[in-house]
Formats: sequence, structure tokens, C-alpha cells
Amino acid sequence: MSERVPMTETTCPYCGVGCGVAVQGAGRSVAGLESHPANRGRLCVKGTALPDTLDLRHRLLHPEVDGARVDWDTALDEVTRRLRDTLARYGPDSVACYGSGQLLTEDYYVANKLMKGFIGSAHMDTNSRLCMASAVAGYKRAFGGDSVPGCYEDLDQADLLVLAGSNAAWTHPVLYQRMVAARKARPDTRVVVIDPRRTATCDLADLHLPLRPGADGLLFNGLLAWLAGHGHLDRDYIRAHTRGFDDALARAKADSGSLAGLARRCDLREADIRTFFQWFAERPRTVTFYSQGINQSATGTDKCNAIINCHLATGRVGRPGASPFSITGQPNAMGGREVGGLANQLAAHMDFAADDVDRVKRFWNAPHMVGEPGLKAVDLFQAVATGRVRFIWILATNPVVSLPEADRVREALRRCPTVVVSDCMADTDTVRMADIKLPARTWGEKNGTVTNSERCISRQRPFLDAPGEARPDWWALARVGRRLGYSEAFAWEHPAQVFAEHAALSGFENEGRRAFDISGLATLDRAGYDALAPVRWPVNRHWPRGRQRLFGDGRFHTDDGRARFVAITAALPEDPPLTGELIMNTGRIRDQWHTMTRTGKARRLLQHIGEPFVALHPEDARRHRIEDGQLATVENPLGAITVRARITADQRRGELFVPMHWSGPFSARARQGALVSATTDPLSGQPQSKFSRVRVTPRAVRWQGFLITRARHHDPDCLYWSYSPLPGGHLFELAGDDDPDRARQRLAALIRDPGEGEEPQWLELRDPGAGHFRRVAVRDGRLIGALFIHPTGALPGRDWLIGLLQRKRLEDHERRALLGGEAPHGGAGDGPVVCACFQVGERAIRARIDAGDGSVEALGRSLRCGTNCGSCLPELKQLLQS
Ligand code: SF4
Repeated sequence: MSERVPMTETTCPYCGVGCGVAVQGAGRSVAGLESHPANRGRLCVKGTALPDTLDLRHRLLHPEVDGARVDWDTALDEVTRRLRDTLARYGPDSVACYGSGQLLTEDYYVANKLMKGFIGSAHMDTNSRLCMASAVAGYKRAFGGDSVPGCYEDLDQADLLVLAGSNAAWTHPVLYQRMVAARKARPDTRVVVIDPRRTATCDLADLHLPLRPGADGLLFNGLLAWLAGHGHLDRDYIRAHTRGFDDALARAKADSGSLAGLARRCDLREADIRTFFQWFAERPRTVTFYSQGINQSATGTDKCNAIINCHLATGRVGRPGASPFSITGQPNAMGGREVGGLANQLAAHMDFAADDVDRVKRFWNAPHMVGEPGLKAVDLFQAVATGRVRFIWILATNPVVSLPEADRVREALRRCPTVVVSDCMADTDTVRMADIKLPARTWGEKNGTVTNSERCISRQRPFLDAPGEARPDWWALARVGRRLGYSEAFAWEHPAQVFAEHAALSGFENEGRRAFDISGLATLDRAGYDALAPVRWPVNRHWPRGRQRLFGDGRFHTDDGRARFVAITAALPEDPPLTGELIMNTGRIRDQWHTMTRTGKARRLLQHIGEPFVALHPEDARRHRIEDGQLATVENPLGAITVRARITADQRRGELFVPMHWSGPFSARARQGALVSATTDPLSGQPQSKFSRVRVTPRAVRWQGFLITRARHHDPDCLYWSYSPLPGGHLFELAGDDDPDRARQRLAALIRDPGEGEEPQWLELRDPGAGHFRRVAVRDGRLIGALFIHPTGALPGRDWLIGLLQRKRLEDHERRALLGGEAPHGGAGDGPVVCACFQVGERAIRARIDAGDGSVEALGRSLRCGTNCGSCLPELKQLLQS
């Protein structure tokens, strides 16, 4: 009888959808958790590939101080000593903490308590500032609290789905598939996508509005004015449940003007705008699903309120199938908002009003309670640069890649007297700046809770033993709290105790004033915490099993219980591009997550898009003399990156798109944050990451090539490289502007084998006149590595050689074919992987289409592509159309 493998129910660590994951044994396989309300058994390709990321390669496993390995006691003593010293000499204003939506709620809670109650500094901010701070500010202005009114079921029930600034097909794939299914079940549902780019999400759209970047607020102001002008307001709702309508409408009318004028300023067709407005008017069940395209703007908060105004004006808040729905990017951005992990929040949905400060101070029995907001992320790192902040503790995030003006952030950290970094990875751009490194536990090892975009609290449960000396972040923070003399306040020994305290604070003197109230979970014991099923807050005596929607009764968390319209003048981005400049937009790609520290480990997640790129319109490419696949430099006075050009009519003219993911360990120069200015929304502090002025030029090279090696010792020394891990080795795509002969000598030395053995046998093919070079190393009948260089990059595919890297022994005929770089009997490989779940390449798909497969269903039957997570369905349709 076969042994039963234990199953752990946990939550995916990537996006804000917050899918439940069923893990078999020690992560050998994963599946979507059928019982989880967020995903009902589905996972996207990133979730499906989680087992590929669990190995210990590149993990930080032991504490280090100034480059020397130490034990935890020594490391924490040193953190405490430097912290005390900084406090004594420069005061609490010189100390900061920068967290992440990757932290569990328990980690976040302890960091916030330590900083704001016991160290006495409110400079506790988080990378969620880059993601949804504008959405928070918008909700607070309108509803009196940071509360998402809707839930995922609304996506099933809506008659109109408006996706504003969201490429959900790639960023929130499981929710996108839910919309696809809902649309199939209810074909009259209409879908409008508002996005300057034609993204994969447009595959579902009945109407795509490729508006001028930054014009979203104007468009929604125009909608409000049009609804009023055409008699589509819910006057009873406005009268009974809101304030400020007349001012908001007057401003919207003055701002948007005529439909023709609106179309001109938004750079849209008037007829398309009219269609959108009519659909909005006709369909009371409307969900506006918005994300970073709205939030990451110097006017992000106003854009959020322009959207919410339209929903309030039609009474579409918190009703089935009807809400303004901000979707968070990260798995626990919402948990961070709950504990007060943003510098302008205090704790548990309380801000810095005197009675809130007093309430939290009493609850924590805090000796150094802060009374005012701290520095938001961009300002915080500028304070590091100026020397105001002299001690910073960074947890689970990589600001040297993700923050605006990223080169300046790196320089600021280099000069900062004490940088403590808690991370699970040993080599990130930020870990490289650390004086003290603390090894953190990661997914599969962590134990705690996260909250997704629909307020659903779920457990992340461990199923692996923690490796090396990795410890939970909450534990490290609490031990520093104890060392500072606060043993009682930081006495927890288990995350369940931290969670219980957090839950108790949420209900402390609440009496219905704050929407976030999970006091019903404050008495959970360890067993109850371990068994906690997903639940949407609030959870209290009124809602013991949680609450699906908020505000459906028209009662809000303002002083008078009414929602607020906000009068918006929808400013277009200042600082328009000068002659020769383009606007750079940034964002995610389908298969990567943040700065790739985890997803970059999975080969299959780099087979869809394996190199950093800039996407540009064919006319811009012609104007700037850039060819598809060529290297291009994107630059401005802040910095420069060199990436591969992708020419596509999906971009608007004059605009570029660069993915946010590539970092120092994965490429030579592709950190897009280096080009983003520190311009922020004045209310939310969120940076304007979608609108940077840049120039683009072709980057001339003298050679291109690739390097495959079994061991990675150091990075290539050349103009351009990008890295992908392989099973049993490493792949670098390369290019240089130096002498190819010198380059080949330098780069051939990177072919390495981790094992000992006799000197490898070198096979070589060289044509110095043509600049053409191939070198392959074999030891004991096994491929060690290969370097191929060619002046124009006319090189074989990599798949066959990569496959050989895993073989114990090469056949003679394979050995003879090595320098050719291709299988002896031909076979061009499958080409770029379209379906990452089943590893189906573009060539195989085209072959089936040529053979008669005429639909995605037929392709799915033949090749299985598109039958698991569905992320590749838009691309399959494109291939069929082409
Ligand atoms: S949609 Fe994908 S990345 Fe997001 S939580 Fe679900 S499985 Fe994870």
C-alpha cells in the first residue's frame, strides 16, 4: 500500500489575488486549492512553478556582520548596539524601517510596533507605497477608511467590467480567467479595457480605449459629467448617502468639456468614448477594476477618486456586481495596510489623530509613541541620501531595483552608516549594500497570515524545515525589541500570539468606528490559528464569519456616515516629452514576479520572455533606426539601460514599455528604476512609475553570442548580458562592442564545472577574420560548457546544447555535432515557450495550426497548451489569427 503524502493548505506568495495552494509533501507538487474562495482550484503559471523555486541555490542561510559569518546572538547584539548608538547620537528621526508586501502580517505588525511605539520613529514604510498607496488614499477620502467594498464574486456578477490601468491577463491571471469564464457564462457582459498599450487583457475586451498616458482622471470626469447630462444619476442614493456631489460635478463638467474636446485631450475616438459611457449608463452592475496604471501616477489619488465618484453617482458601491475595485499587486499589501505598515498610518486603520495615538499608546504600553506621520518611501530614501536617516532596516524587498532613481538609492545605501537587510536571498542589489545580513525564512518555511485584494485573510503554512539558520522576520524584530529592554512587549514565542494581539488591537475601543475589526479572531489559540480558514474582514461579534461586501447599506466610515465625492481637476502629466524624447511606461510581464529573486530560479518561467526588453512602435523604431531584436539604450539624465528591442504596434507612438523585473544578478544594465524620476503623488507619495521621459538609441555591437556553463563563478565582463538558470547549469546571452577576439579569450574562462576532474577537452572552431568563434568543453564524456560568438548573432538555438548539459555521457555523434550547436539529425527545437505549464513552444503550435488546428480548444487537445492556468490563451489566439 502506498504511503499517504501529507498535504498542506497554504497561500501563493506572489500577487494580490491570494490563491490557495495545496502542497504535497515537501513541495514536490502543488495544485490550486479547490476550497479557497479566491481561486477555486486554479493557479497561474507562476503558482504552478512554485516547486521549481524551492531549492536552496542562492539562499542566505547564516547571519553576517560586515562580511563575516556570525551566529544570531552576535548579529542581533550588533543590530541593537548600532541602533542604540544611532538613537543616542542622532535621535529616533535618524532610524528607519522599509518593509514589503511580501512580509506576513505578523512580521509587519512587529516591525510597526517596534518602530512607532518603542524606537519612536514613524519612518516605517513599505514597497506597497510603489503599488497601491494612491488607492488607499482614494478610499480614505471617499469612504472614511481604507476599505475595499467589493469581492471577487462581483467579477462573476457584473454586466460591465471596466479594467483601468490593469493588464490582468498577466498581472492577476486567475482573476482574469475568472472574468473570461464569467463572460462566457453571460455573453451580454461587456468588457472595456482602458490602457495606453494593447495588452493581452485586450483579448477579452469589447472595447479598448488606448488613451493618452495619464488621461484616466479626465476620462472618468468626462463620464461623471456625461452621466449627469444624460439623466443617469442615482439621485436618491446621492441625497441619502453622500456629500460633495455638486462641487464634484461642477469641476468634472468644467474639466471635461464637450465629448469632442474630451476625445481630443484623451487622444481617443469620440465614438468609442460614447460607447463606453453608454455601456456604463445602461449597466448598473459595473465593476471598475483598477491597478498600477491608475495608482502609479503623480495624480493617482485623484484618478482613484474620479473613478469612485462615478460609482457613487450611480449608487454602485458594495452591491452585488457593482463596486470600484482596487486590486493590490502583492500577496500581503492589504495586510500591511491593516497593521499600519505605511508611514502615514499608525496601526489597525488608525492614523495620527490625538485620540488614535493615545489609544494605541495605551494598548501597547508604549514608552516612545510617535505622534506624527513619518517619511514615505521616496522621501525616506532621500533622507538616507542626505544623512538624516543613518540606520535603516530593510526587510524582504529590493529598493535598489524597484524605487525611482534607483542608482541614487544604491549610492544612498552605500553611504548610510548602518544598513541591515533581512532577506532569504544571498545576492540581490540591496543585499549587496548590507552591513548586517539576516537570513529570513521564505515561502514554504514561513508561518503566518496574508490578506488579499478582497480583504480575505488566509494562512501561509510551513511545509519545509527552515534551512541553515533562517528565522522568521517577526522573531528577529522581536528579539531586538527585547534587547532594547522591552521584554514584555515583545515576549511572543509563536506567530499565533502576534496575530492575536493584532486582532485585539483592531477591536480595541473600536465600537464600529473602524471598518478593520477582526476582534473575533483575538482569542484564537494555536490550534484555532493553525486551522484558520480564509475569511474576509471584518470578523467581530456582528460578522462572526466575515463579510462579503462593505457599504451596500450606504453607511460609510466618515464622521456622518456618508461617502464623500471629491472634486477633481484631472491634470495631465506635467513635463511632457521634448523633441526626440519618448515616454517610458513600466510594468510586469506574464511569468516573472518583482525583481525575480524567486521566479528567476525557474527555467520554465524564463522561456516565455528570457531577456530584458524595450517595446516600441514600428514608426518610433524607424525614426530611431532600431531593428527588432537589436540592442537599444534607453536613457535620461538619471541613468541608462541597455536592453533588447521588441517592435510592436501594441505600443502607442512616442511611448515605450520596459519590464520592471530585471536586476543586477540577472542582467548587466536593465534596472528600469534607474530611469524613473522621484516625482510622486502629493497625497499618497506614490511614484509616477508609468511616465518617464527618455531617449532611445540603437546600441551598436561588434559581436553577439551566448555562454552555457555548468558553474557560475562571476558575471561576464561585456557590454550586455542577461542570465537564465538552467537545470544543471547557467545560460548567458551576450553582446559586446569590443574586439571579438579579446572578448572570446576573456569569456571562455567563464566555462566552469563545479566538480573536480582532469582538464577538460576543448573543441574549437575559429574564423578570426569573420569574428566567428565557437568553443566547447567536455570532461569525462560530459558537456561542461560552450561559448558561441558571431559578429551579427547568427547562431544556433540554445535548446539542444542546454539539453545535453544534463546528460551524464554524450554519444559520439552528439560529440561530433557539438560545434554545430544543433542536433545531428536536425530539429530546430520548439522555439520560444508560449505555454509555460506544459512547455509548449511557438514552433510546435504553428505546426499544429498548419496541420489544421483552428481553435484554442483544438490546440489544447493536440498539445495541452492553454488547458491549465490559461495565461497563454491570448497568445494562442494571436497565433491563430496570424
Ligand atoms: S494569480 Fe498566480 S501569482 Fe497570483 S496568487 Fe494566484 S497563483 Fe499566485
